[in-house]
This record gives sequence, C-alpha cells and structure tokens, in this order.
Amino acid sequence: MAIPFIDLQAQRARLGQPLEDAILAVVRSGAFIMGPDIAKLEAELGRFGQAPHVLTCGSGTEALVLPLMAWGIGPGDAVFCPSFTFAATAEVMPLVGASPVFVDILDDTYNLDPVKLDAAITAVKAEGKLVPRAVIAVDLFGQPADYPAISEVAQRHGLKLIADSAQGFGCTLNGQHPIHWADVTTTSFFPAKPLGCYGDGGAILSKDAGFHDLLMSLRVHGQAVKSDIEGRTFDHDPKYLNMRVGMNARMDTIQAAVLLQKLTIFEDEIRARNVVADRYAAGLSNVVTVPKVIAGGTSVWAQYTIETPDRDGLIAHLKTAEIPTAVYYPIPIHRQGVYSVYPQGVGGLPVTEAKSERVMSLPMHPYLEADVQDQIISAIRAYAGRNA
Ligand SMILES: *Cc1c(COP(=O)(O)O)cnc(C)c1O
Repeated sequence: MAIPFIDLQAQRARLGQPLEDAILAVVRSGAFIMGPDIAKLEAELGRFGQAPHVLTCGSGTEALVLPLMAWGIGPGDAVFCPSFTFAATAEVMPLVGASPVFVDILDDTYNLDPVKLDAAITAVKAEGKLVPRAVIAVDLFGQPADYPAISEVAQRHGLKLIADSAQGFGCTLNGQHPIHWADVTTTSFFPAKPLGCYGDGGAILSKDAGFHDLLMSLRVHGQAVKSDIEGRTFDHDPKYLNMRVGMNARMDTIQAAVLLQKLTIFEDEIRARNVVADRYAAGLSNVVTVPKVIAGGTSVWAQYTIETPDRDGLIAHLKTAEIPTAVYYPIPIHRQGVYSVYPQGVGGLPVTEAKSERVMSLPMHPYLEADVQDQIISAIRAYAGRNA
C-alpha cells in the first residue's frame, strides 16, 4: 500500500461516529452561520492556547489580514516578515495596500533572524520612504520563532507583532504559547495543518478586549459591536449599522463542530508527532541534516524537513520506493514575480535562498507506524550509503 504523506483517514477512523454526529447535528439545527459551536470553539481554543480572546474566521489568510485592518495599516506602511514561508504571510500586506519587507532566517531553525530583523527595521526607518508598523514572525514547520528576541526588537521600534502560527498552533517556548510575546497569534485550520478542519478555517488569538471587539466588527462587514452601541439608542436594529469597512470572514459552524471533536485528541496527537520526529532523528541524523528545534521549544511538527545537498536525487530515489516527499519551499516569496518588487533586509536573503535548494519534507503525521517509518528511514540510508 502506498505510504501517505499525511494520513487524515487514520485520524477520521479514530474520531469515529461522534465526529459524523457532530456534523449532522449542525445540518439538522440549520445554524450554519455563527451557530453555538462557534462560541464554544473560541472558548476551547482560548483555553488550549492560553489566550484571553479568540476570534474564529474563514481561513489563516483572513486571520492575518484582519489585524492589519484593525491597526489601520495601509499605503506607505512596512510590515516585516520572512520570505521562507507560505505566500499568505506576505500576501496580506499588498491586500491592505502596505509593503512587505523580507527578512532573512536563521540557519538552523528556518525562523526569522532577530538580528537581521533589527537591521532591516533600522534601514527602513533611515531611508524614510516607508513607515515601519508591524512584524509577522512565522512558526515554520511547527516550531516557535525566537519570540523573546523578536518581541524585544519589535517593542524597541514601536511595532506590533503577529505570530503566524498557521503551522505551529500548539507549539510552545519555555512552556509559553507565542501569544505570551505577540500582540496577536493567527492560525489556519486548512486540512493539512496540524489542527485542521474539513475545509477552510482560521483563528485570531489576542489579549486586548477592545482589539478583539474591533476584529469581531471587521469579521462581519464592520457591523456595530457592543462598544459601538453602548450608551446609544437606536430606532432601528443596530445589527445593520456599519461602523467601518470590514468584510465577511466568518468560519462555518460545521467547521467549528469538526474542530471541537479534533481538539479533544490534539494534545495526544502532538505527543505522537514528537515520537515520530524523535524516531526520524535517531535513524537519520548521521546521513542527512535533521531539524533542530530552538532551545526550550516544542514543535507540533507540521513538517519534518531535512536538508541534503543531493535533494533531487534523494526525492527521485524515494519516489521509486513509493515514498512521498514535498519541498517547502522551492521558490522563496521574494523571488516570485509579483513579490520581487518589495524591499529586502540589509544584505539580502542568502540563508533563505540556500535553504530553498536543500530542504525536503518527509511523511509526518501522528499515525505513522514504526514499521512504515523504518521503511522510509532505510530507503534514505540506502541512498546515502550508495552515494557516500
Ligand atoms: C497555511 C498558511 C497560511 C494560510 O492559511 P490558509 O488557511 O490557507 O489561508 C498562512 N501562513 C502560513 C505560514 C501557512 O502555512
């Protein structure tokens, strides 16, 4: 049987009938939009992610764009982010009229380099063309960015900090979730993410009640929220009072129902992913470069990404053994046509460019069995031995 890269069917079998019942319950209730499962999920996510406020939304991309809108970030503003990431991280800046500024990553964790971030912000300030407003750090492949250092830099320059935890929801650093340091954590529930739903979905974790209120308004076309209505009287339903320009960024209730089921096993799945990662490291560390997690950090292993100079050869070899692989990311964002016009940090992005030619990801999910994993490890070792 072919080895899956991610095995969502094994998870579905484990969740069984209660998952299907939960979906059917929404269908029978008819509460497709903002049904009771939405508020329930927001409370559960807040408890899990140690955040006082959680707003669900339609995708991880919407989760990134709503805070930029709430802070009024737009034309003439700069938002600093890595280029070694999924396009959505950088896409949201042009969406609001702002400019991404691409900053290089650390050689060992693939996450934003705080020293290069500091230099990039200083250079943009000195140039005076763009106004630095925010930083988006990414928890790439599931592990936390260096938040103590990054948040120190952001605060010193007076910038907001977003943790793009689309791949890293559930990761911690010194026992704390990214929201401990960031103003906002965003995540995605795209099916292939560590915590995925059965379609598109996302969430925004935040710490400030007024800011959460603003996000709530923007999620539904800028509709009046409690703080807009308080102390005023209306001769019409204030639901149709639009206080600001927003959008439709709601999560479907069915997705919330799915996520409430999946959240019950998520912690156990993170443990299982770490067992898989440890087994890979034990079997592969002397033949390829295996991932390094930041000191004090735990990863949720969205990907298990190795480095090897002969990537294409290894991928082809594994393909003949019916072992699937993937390359995240073959073209850094700053090298893609539409994004190549935006500024880069001081000294360019040499680490990002080198990594894009060496990285490849192996099958990784909580249900990867030891004998199947041994097959993968043996195939990689055989290839490395033959080419040594
Ligand atoms: C997946 C992903 C997103 C976007 O999430 P969607 O739900 O697909 O919109 C944003 N940032 C990163 C780093 C991602 O991996």
